[in-house]
Parts: sequence; structure tokens; C-alpha cells
Amino acid sequence: MLNNKVVKMDCLFCKIVKGEMPAKKVYEDDSVIAFLDINPANPGHTLVVPKKHTETIADIEDSDLEKVIVVVKNIAKKLKDELDTAGLNIVQNNGKLAGQLVSHIHFHVIPRFAGDQVIITYQRAQVDENKMEEIRKKLTEEAAPAPKDLDLDF
Ligand code: AMP
Ligand code: ZN
Repeated sequence: MLNNKVVKMDCLFCKIVKGEMPAKKVYEDDSVIAFLDINPANPGHTLVVPKKHTETIADIEDSDLEKVIVVVKNIAKKLKDELDTAGLNIVQNNGKLAGQLVSHIHFHVIPRFAGDQVIITYQRAQVDENKMEEIRKKLTEEAAPAPKDLDLDF
């Protein structure tokens, strides 16, 4: 618990939430804040952040996540209307290995424009049918009945 407090005190996004750090805010309510990314992939790149500090998608309360995702949608619509985006990527990184730099859960809303230089990609693999079925079974039979007990160790 002490560790969690230290993390929160040092957390960049908690500081933005508390107004201790400046940010180019585009939206705020009691539970959610959204501001422009300081190093945008494209103009309008926005971060949507729950005010309550949790680290990853595995930690956040469902009710907080619901509020965040509605704001993600509204920001997406706003970007489309105001910046005339040609497309949009929603990116949400969990864990250092997956590229999470700030340990306070957030969603990237990245507007896309024709001819932009943004690269969001991954290699596609051919998977053995048996292996795929094994994974499907694990996900449906083991994980699905008890989602709250999932121990996603990011
Ligand atoms: P992630 O790699 O998913 O953790 O993304 C963290 C994002 O936070 C990066 O895109 C950074 O550019 C952005 N960022 C870091 N510091 C700030 C800040 N002070 N204000 C706005 N965005 C920030
Ligand atoms: Zn935080």
C-alpha cells in the first residue's frame, strides 16, 4: 500500500489531474480528464485518462472504465467534426513490454489523415489449428466464468 502511494505521488497524470502540472485540457468531468499528448503522433492526438489512479486495464473498476470509454467516443467524434479526420486509432498500452511509459491507465485517441506518417502495425502469424483451439478453450472455459479473478500480471 505504501508503494502504491509513492507511485501515485510521483505519477505524472495524477499531477495533471490535481492541476499540479500543466496540460492542454480538452475535456474534464468528475471522473475523467482528456488532454493533448505532449508528443503527438498527429495533430489532435488526445489522451483520455480516468482521474482515479490505476495502472492497467486489469486494475480499473468497470464503472470507471465505462465513463472513460464514453469520453473516448466523444473525443473521437469531436476530432472527426473539427479536424476532419480520415480515420482514427484508439491505442491503450498495458505494461512496459507493451510500450506503456506512463503507469496511469490512459487511452490514446489518434486522428489519422491521408498521407500521414503514423505507423501502428504488427506482424501477422499463421497459427496451428490445434494451438488455436487450445487457446480458445483456455479463454472460454477457464477465464470467462470468473473474469474478476483474472490475474493479468502486466
Ligand atoms: P504510453 O506510452 O501509452 O504510456 O503513453 C504515454 C503518453 O503520454 C506519450 O504519448 C507521451 O507523449 C504522453 N505524455 C507524457 N507526458 C505528458 C504530458 N506532460 N502532457 C501530455 N502528454 C504527455
Ligand atoms: Zn496516476
